[in-house]
Amino acid sequence: MAGGEKVDYVFKVVLIGDSAVGKSQILARFARNEFSIDSKATIGVEFQTRTLLIDHKSVKAQIWDTAGQERQAPPHPIPPFSSLAARPPQFAPDSYRAVTSAYYRGALGALLVYDITKRQSFDHIPRWLEELRGHADKNIVIMLVGNKSDLEDERAVSTEDAKEFAEKENLFFLETSALQATNVENAFQTVLSEIFKIHS
Ligand code: GDP
Ligand code: MG
Repeated sequence: MAGGEKVDYVFKVVLIGDSAVGKSQILARFARNEFSIDSKATIGVEFQTRTLLIDHKSVKAQIWDTAGQERQAPPHPIPPFSSLAARPPQFAPDSYRAVTSAYYRGALGALLVYDITKRQSFDHIPRWLEELRGHADKNIVIMLVGNKSDLEDERAVSTEDAKEFAEKENLFFLETSALQATNVENAFQTVLSEIFKIHS
């Protein structure tokens, strides 16, 4: 879209999940239609935008990609409904909490990403979900994303297991390949259209 045109809505969407599952490449594919094999770990929190039309309205998607304080999962599960003050001090370092709340603040959507070839990245999903639900908007739209679907030979997480988890937790679910550009557009479109339904 050309500069200077009006934007009707800005929706913040966050990418979360273990390091190396492909979050930055999913974002590069969506925002710039690019992919790089030797992507560097993301340094610092950053976001990219892409403006699209939904129902004849111009929607600017602001997609946040995690700082690669390359962590494999939130340090500890965060109990739902507990206030920050009520948490024991050893629960998580202050720096982690500060960065975490800034990251989630105002997010209306999330892509919760695992790698279909790395079982551990799927096993950590409940912890990411808990952290997300503890920090984000209560109406946040969440898409569970099994990335690297091009690596079928190395698959370690069945589509059925993921689908079942997504249904249980009320999440949308898709398998994507940032490499082959499979379902990346679909994943963002679904989340953004759903946010649009809720907030327009
Ligand atoms: P992040 O740490 O979650 O941001 O992960 P990156 O986006 O940096 O990707 C980690 C590695 O996985 C990189 O070597 C990417 O090239 C690779 N990768 C990302 N997406 C895909 C994909 O869809 N298929 C394949 N085969 N590799 C991918
Ligand atoms: Mg990254």
